[in-house]
Amino acid sequence: MGTASIADVNLDEKYGPFINGEVGEPANGYIDAINAANGKLLAKIGRGGQEDVDRAVKAANAAFKDWSNTLIEERSALLHKIADTLEANQERLKMIECMDTGRAIHEFDLDYQLAVYQFRYFASAILTYEGTSRPVQNGHLITKKEPLGVCAQIIPWNVPMIMTAFKLAPALAAGNTLVLKPAEDACLSIMEFAKLLADILPKGVVNVVPGYGTEAGQALIDHPNVHKLAFTGSVEVGRLVGKTAGERILPVTLELGGKAPHIVFPDVDIDRAVENATLGYTFFNGESCILGTRLLIHDDIYDEFIEKLIARAKEIKIGDPTDRSTRLASLINEKQGKRVLGYFDIARKEGAKILYGGNRVTVPGNEHGYFIEPTIIEAEPHMRIAQEEIFGPAATVTRWRDVDEVIEMANDVEYGLAAGIMTEDLEKALDTANKLEAGSVWINSYFNFQSGAPFGGYKNSGVGREYSQEALDHYTQSKTIVAAYQLPPAGFFK
Ligand code: NDP
Repeated sequence: MGTASIADVNLDEKYGPFINGEVGEPANGYIDAINAANGKLLAKIGRGGQEDVDRAVKAANAAFKDWSNTLIEERSALLHKIADTLEANQERLKMIECMDTGRAIHEFDLDYQLAVYQFRYFASAILTYEGTSRPVQNGHLITKKEPLGVCAQIIPWNVPMIMTAFKLAPALAAGNTLVLKPAEDACLSIMEFAKLLADILPKGVVNVVPGYGTEAGQALIDHPNVHKLAFTGSVEVGRLVGKTAGERILPVTLELGGKAPHIVFPDVDIDRAVENATLGYTFFNGESCILGTRLLIHDDIYDEFIEKLIARAKEIKIGDPTDRSTRLASLINEKQGKRVLGYFDIARKEGAKILYGGNRVTVPGNEHGYFIEPTIIEAEPHMRIAQEEIFGPAATVTRWRDVDEVIEMANDVEYGLAAGIMTEDLEKALDTANKLEAGSVWINSYFNFQSGAPFGGYKNSGVGREYSQEALDHYTQSKTIVAAYQLPPAGFFK
């Protein structure tokens, strides 16, 4: 199937919360969902609040008993069915997500592949997620994994379907029910996906309440009848979610920001390294926590590398998101656009040098959107532009001469989500990887995501791991049962 056309997407006029298998009316009215690039109204989405969250949590609690008792073979089959359905409907959903987020349509091939793989991975992983059993003196010891209950899951706007799959797949596989709060800026594909789930899952197993974070999101994390909090987004809101979990003694997983170093050793093929680096800082419009936005380049090749990096940046096609040849498109909204441009001003004031880019570009027919040039900034490692998450298509470039020095530079940030290394010397690469404070290190191939590879952050990048068997640990708790064959003899305690 080829790319869906805009005419094919056929959106509903409005999307209320999806609760107990049905789309209903939100208690607090609707919010406009806008095409990020051209500003046109796409649809209206429910402004979820306390009342909707209450209904959703009630539905999820009611569904929990049956769902958690469903045979794992059956849950596995249903997850495969979700993957098949997502695959069959992907072209339309990709186009919806493209218009909603402003990201280039071609990128969604990867997003949807990862999302489908997630459902398939957990459909299989749950079948081998076994407890243990062994004889002990006069009896038997059993350890088993039990689901937690209702999971409150909150996700951001940058990669809606990847985030949905990361949250839903392990939680459902483990036997939990859930309430998902997507970001109000990009949730139309998720609302459409929820309608497809209504034909696959029992009522109440998955509920989706769209709306503002401060309303629907806050009501969800504060709800007394949820049993686990899972959040992806900024460190600021992540702290709040973590604090709530602490006060309520709830298990929590947090996937927060990133500012990944991408280290270039002098032995690389420069053309190949430039290509990998360019993908690493511009994909997702730069709106991702995993991007390699701090390029640390060895002094011996620095000048040639920068020259080629700039030449490559000049070739990147900025254009209409729905055009398959576009490589950089619109940021999510004006707030994000101004935030990114604001960071370039900060960089200039700090004395960093913008070597290329730094400007907003107008794309005819899409004047509403914030299209930003790929931007290369020469910066000192301590500068804010090299320390803080920008979430736009920009990378800092910094020279290094000594391996210990570059490892120190790479680690000297509050984040630790991902890192990249480019070298032909595998020994050097692995030795460096071992010393980096990052949850994922990609050698010679930036964001090389593989199912089953734990994904999550060190330091302020978060708590917990997704995308892997470990995620099942985060959505279950262990129960130990020790069974003695007989009661002890009478009087044994005298
Ligand atoms: P937020 O952390 O504010 O948003 C993430 C999610 O949390 C959204 O669904 C949001 O709702 C929700 N939320 C916001 N406030 C609350 C709250 N009080 N209680 C519960 N949920 C809440 O990120 P932003 O969208 O504001 O982006 C700001 C910056 O964060 C970005 O520039 C980027 O640096 C970083 N970020 C990191 C991401 C990552 O993947 N690690 C993803 C997105 C952003 P809603 O937006 O609908 O109001």
